[in-house]
Amino acid sequence: MYAMQASDGTRQKKAVLSSFFPRAEQYRNITGVPAKTVHETRDSSFFFTYSERHLQCIWFDKSLRPEKLIASSGEEVFVENPGRWNLEAGPDFLDAIIVIGPDRRKMRGDIEIHIHPSDWKTHQHYGNKAYSKIIAHISFFPGHIPEETLPAGTIQLSLGNALKANPGFSFENIDISAYPYSAPGGQTPPCAEILAGWNNDQITKLLESAGEERLRTKSFRMGTAIRERGEDQILYEEIMTALGYKHNSIAFRQLAQIIPLKVLRDESSGNILKGYCLLAGVSGLLPPKVSQKWDTETRSFIRQLWDNWWKNQANWETRRMPTDAWHLAGIRPQNSPLRRMAAAASLFTTDDSLSSKFARISTADFDCWHKNVQNLFKLPESISYWKQRLSFSGTVQKSNIALLGTERIIAIELNVLLPFLASREIPIKRLMNNLPPEQGNNLIRTAAHALLGRDHNPALYRSGLRQQGLIQIFHDFCLNNRSSCSDCLLVESIRSFSS
Ligand code: SF4
Repeated sequence: MYAMQASDGTRQKKAVLSSFFPRAEQYRNITGVPAKTVHETRDSSFFFTYSERHLQCIWFDKSLRPEKLIASSGEEVFVENPGRWNLEAGPDFLDAIIVIGPDRRKMRGDIEIHIHPSDWKTHQHYGNKAYSKIIAHISFFPGHIPEETLPAGTIQLSLGNALKANPGFSFENIDISAYPYSAPGGQTPPCAEILAGWNNDQITKLLESAGEERLRTKSFRMGTAIRERGEDQILYEEIMTALGYKHNSIAFRQLAQIIPLKVLRDESSGNILKGYCLLAGVSGLLPPKVSQKWDTETRSFIRQLWDNWWKNQANWETRRMPTDAWHLAGIRPQNSPLRRMAAAASLFTTDDSLSSKFARISTADFDCWHKNVQNLFKLPESISYWKQRLSFSGTVQKSNIALLGTERIIAIELNVLLPFLASREIPIKRLMNNLPPEQGNNLIRTAAHALLGRDHNPALYRSGLRQQGLIQIFHDFCLNNRSSCSDCLLVESIRSFSS
């Protein structure tokens, strides 16, 4: 799930990974990744590879937050209201309500969240009036700081152990950009004014080094997960997540965790349709009734699915996902989860060595590698029903529609295969530098707009690596900036770098 303790092996792995992403270090040099972030993610990255923002999302979101928390005093704590997400200076959440102990005493006030308890002191909140209404200091790691350094009565509690105790929890399920943030906008942000004076080579260098930093972090996280749960399972989870595209990525990851790869293979015995029935049945998306409005082929297909699923249904009943775990409205028919599950069934029920196959493809030349990866995703054997269909209610299309289009495969290459190969210590330099851009990613557009100004040239980030760089900078600096850019630490760093 996540690494709580460092080991020599982990440190060595980090060192090897750093050599795969030499420009990641440049990113930190150019941007001087702010001391605050350095403290939060770098010093502790041997132990915790996520950010303070991940913890804020957990506190804010009931579906992620452990229901019962234990304060360092040993008392039980229930969150009645996590408070308002503060997008300006000061505590992370305002006006929260928590209920404590057997006498259920209620406290109302602000919440501050850190990775380590000692960050309260490091971040110099002690004695700061803006933090005088704090009622709870939350950290990931356990620990206790002197009570007199906190406002009177503040409770201290850590999330780490409670999260670890929940097998269904994964930091990877948190999309940190899906939670509130004050989007840089309005006037041209100061970073964009400075970057406007840079030439294209300098901007490219910044974006590519930031892109390497992002891939380095992803590779480290993937390597950690692989050591805990195995290469095939992690590759399966990551590809499933990518199949969910942006709206259903979390639901697909959950499905892959509910039906581990080995179970999918064992229960389907290499039969794609059986695997599909299991995925569709457990997802909760199998239509409960056959509609008479559907054509004969559709009705017969759904009956076939139910013939398979009803035998399994009782075994999976308690693990079946609710329909509302899925986003079905407004998504392109090609991306419908039930179509994507057909791709997953084809990929994962028949092939028991996908990870070895990916690892064996030569990475010496991008075009060859890309072609070979595309071939592995061609899915010649699949569920014939979906070959010319986009939905149960739609008509049969005139030509075949790929279950996995080129765009999705590129996204899988970038987000899954590169980190996977790097975690296996397979050179990826040629791949990294040639990856085509991802299409239709709003966060990339928002980040480009903020950092490069309204009239920027999109050609500046027409590469997968540079796009990753934009996202990295946006995550590092923009997502948690509460000063409308005025105290953004990137600005000073790039200003001094320019001069
Ligand atoms: S927060 Fe910083 S990096 Fe983001 S747009 Fe504002 S000045 Fe630029």
